Amino acid sequence: MRYRTYSEYMKQKYGEKVYKIPISIPVSCPNRDGFLSVGGCIFCGEKGAGFENLPDVIPVRKQMEKNIAYIGKKYKAQKYVAYFQNYSNTYLPIEKLVQFAEEAACIESVVEISFSTRPDCISTEYLERLKEVSEKYNKQISIELGMQTVNYHTLNKLNRGHTLAEYIDAVIRIKKFGFEICGHIILNLPWDDQEDVIENSKIVSALSVEHVKLHALYIEKGTKMCELYDRGEISIISLEEYVDRVVLFLQYLSPDIIIQRIAGRAPEEDTVFCNWNTSWWKIKDRIEKKMEDLDTYQGAKCDYLNGKALTKFTTENCTTQILHLKNYHKR
Ligand code: SF4
Repeated sequence: MRYRTYSEYMKQKYGEKVYKIPISIPVSCPNRDGFLSVGGCIFCGEKGAGFENLPDVIPVRKQMEKNIAYIGKKYKAQKYVAYFQNYSNTYLPIEKLVQFAEEAACIESVVEISFSTRPDCISTEYLERLKEVSEKYNKQISIELGMQTVNYHTLNKLNRGHTLAEYIDAVIRIKKFGFEICGHIILNLPWDDQEDVIENSKIVSALSVEHVKLHALYIEKGTKMCELYDRGEISIISLEEYVDRVVLFLQYLSPDIIIQRIAGRAPEEDTVFCNWNTSWWKIKDRIEKKMEDLDTYQGAKCDYLNGKALTKFTTENCTTQILHLKNYHKR
């Protein structure tokens, strides 16, 4: 593989294939409920990310059991990640968050609990409590942080309600507790160009975020983004350019970072634009083919960390590092 895959990483970490089970809980988002704004990010639809999840009225344990019964039988799976997916899953009173975390943690086959959230829904106090759950039940905890782009001008246009600073703050805090972090990034936002793509890659690498999830922007009907699109005020890059951007992103990305998702699935109904009407796996194939054609790999251009200018005096070290990278991806 020319990039590090999540499935392989999890197999090595837990000794076998691990399946992520999405869970919905009755939670909102400070950017939707009026605390920061009403309406939220201009691309955010009614259903949030978990368009295929079970309803949030079903208790966490029941949702897990139902999904485990199905997936366990279908794939002979034994180990799972409880994945709190929809909206901002740490935007809760702290006792409620601990209660949900414990409901998942006490299921024996759950090896990890993952919370998807926003950077401004992370605090030291909350992380301390999650650490207690992690230690009490001997389960790993990971945090998925929506960032989308490091371009804070674009973040403002998206009405994210936070900028790059909150993201950096959240990453630094989470790292103190040893939880792995996954950054969500959209590489075809209308106001971003290739320079932003490179900077996205460099920032997550510089922050030593452990995982990234890439997905292309889709435009849902009824959103402010859709209004801009219908009025011709924004346009979407071609699939060819998107593939080029993903390859560029991977070239600049630290070879240590795991790619949890290289192309995202999205709800086709109720959208005016979704993945260029192409299935996610065809997009994935095109990205991988492009990497083959260019004979390139994750980290091929990751030469900017740890005092690049000083390589002038240590050329030998630099050459050794590049050789190491090439060999790593040939394995
Ligand atoms: S942070 Fe997520 S849930 Fe909240 S408004 Fe933005 S996209 Fe929607």
